[in-house]
Amino acid sequence: MTINLFNVGIKFLFLIAFGIVSLKLQIIDFTGFLASLLVGGAIFIFGGWKWFLLILTFYIVAGLSTKYKYEEKRQKGVAEEKKGARAWQNVLANGSVAAFLAVVNGFMINNVLFAGYLGAVSAAIADTLATEIGLLSPQQPRSIINLSKKVPSGTSGGVSLLGEIASILSAGLIGLLTYITAAQNWNLQTALIISVVSGFLGSTFDSLLGATIQARYKCKVCGKKTEKKLHCEKHTIYLKGCSWIDNNMVNLLAVTFGSGIGILVFHLI
Ligand SMILES: [Zn+2]
Repeated sequence: MTINLFNVGIKFLFLIAFGIVSLKLQIIDFTGFLASLLVGGAIFIFGGWKWFLLILTFYIVAGLSTKYKYEEKRQKGVAEEKKGARAWQNVLANGSVAAFLAVVNGFMINNVLFAGYLGAVSAAIADTLATEIGLLSPQQPRSIINLSKKVPSGTSGGVSLLGEIASILSAGLIGLLTYITAAQNWNLQTALIISVVSGFLGSTFDSLLGATIQARYKCKVCGKKTEKKLHCEKHTIYLKGCSWIDNNMVNLLAVTFGSGIGILVFHLI
């Protein structure tokens, strides 16, 4: 591919302007802003606007869903810290696989790469929405490894019907946008099947890892079990799981898995 410097400049101006607005709205913190420039820049430049639109949609929908009823989530003790502003680890966990595939596509255009990209973005949005909307579920979530067992809201590996619906709809939105922009020469059915299946399975894989190997802690202040090293502004106590597998690591593994599912489904249909 040839790189047009003027074109690259315009894209970065857009990313910077959009990033500054996101910083002001506390969707990302400054480290998240830098990581977003890297991920967004790679996808915009090497994938083009049709690829970029999908990750941008994930970014906006994920940001809004984190802010949605934030106060209610905070009072339940399950909200993201720092008013929901995402740091670089979260941006890379959700976006690095997508950015990698976009860069490879810049050198060898191949619709298999796009299928992997669609799977990665669908898994990222499905997983974020399953959590952020699922936290608001009026019913208590159930453990993914034992559906008859109810678990407290915010428990890693907990699933709710509301979260699952939000997850599938959001993945479907990514498939729909793929079709509308004709990012690939696919019919609506193909785009929707790839996005919904990889979104659903990616998010389910995330819950499975969350219920099994993810590190779990307990808050010294409020006594809540949590996946976070900080709770109620204090360090938490280690309970179980692999200490190096935190929420971002689980996210990265789930997005990678969703990307693989996207490629697999593309070959199967
Ligand atoms: Zn606490």
